Amino acid sequence: MIRIAIANQKGGVGKTTTAINVATALAATGWKTLLVDLDPQGNASTGIGVYAADRERSSYDVLVDRMPIMDAVMTSRIPNLDLLPATQDLSGAEVELVGEEDRAYRLSQALRPDLGYDVCLIDCPPSLGLLTLNALCGADTLLVPLQCEFFALEGLSQLLQTVERVQQRFNSDLGIIGIALTMFDRRNRLTEQVSEDVRSCLGNLVFETTIPRNVRLSEAPSHGVPALIYDHTCAGSRAYMALARELLSRLPEKRKAA
Ligand code: ADP
Ligand code: MG
Repeated sequence: MIRIAIANQKGGVGKTTTAINVATALAATGWKTLLVDLDPQGNASTGIGVYAADRERSSYDVLVDRMPIMDAVMTSRIPNLDLLPATQDLSGAEVELVGEEDRAYRLSQALRPDLGYDVCLIDCPPSLGLLTLNALCGADTLLVPLQCEFFALEGLSQLLQTVERVQQRFNSDLGIIGIALTMFDRRNRLTEQVSEDVRSCLGNLVFETTIPRNVRLSEAPSHGVPALIYDHTCAGSRAYMALARELLSRLPEKRKAA
């Protein structure tokens, strides 16, 4: 099982949209996929049709009470895609875990390689707190959605510093699988400029696939289905399929069979 954290401390940059749609694309290619919702807002859970009222157990139980993860995982209506949902009480987890020695490793301990999944995607909250730290400690690699806007590079350097610190102190195996440019608007000169700057700064770390600003991507969650199912032909869905293919091509061979 390859574990991929989807993180960026900024809110509204497309983390959850990326998590949902890449998870759906990977599941559609036959990969047994687990989506872990680590954001107390639970948008990833809602976005694949698991509403708050139906979430009995959650990532909170796994992190705070060490509940065996498979006792909390739910199936979704999407074949090959399971969910560890998030509930509101996750917002208290950082405080509740503060005195625990292994507080950064609770997710890592739960995501054992023998759970039966090929891939696990972890949707992070918009901060670099303990929840995101759990994701970075529990992941093999990181996917960073980056919105093409003025302060994008500044936020990114803070994130990359955090990754370096995590690599030094917590998880020396953590890699970065790539940076995905999101909400790209061809008609906007600034997004184009930012995209060029990011690419010239970071080269191959940036995925070739760019996710366009696309209204279907923002409509889909209110229907409780990923855009890839809501409208699989829209520009946003096609971009996420291309991103998933590119992601697969970047994964080490040996992981694919694991
Ligand atoms: P994050 O998880 O980083 O906070 P989201 O994925 O929730 O970001 O996206 C923030 C908002 O923008 C949501 O309303 C989402 O539907 C919308 N959105 C995300 N990506 C796109 C896109 N490429 N085009 C249009 N709207 C998008
Ligand atoms: Mg989110």
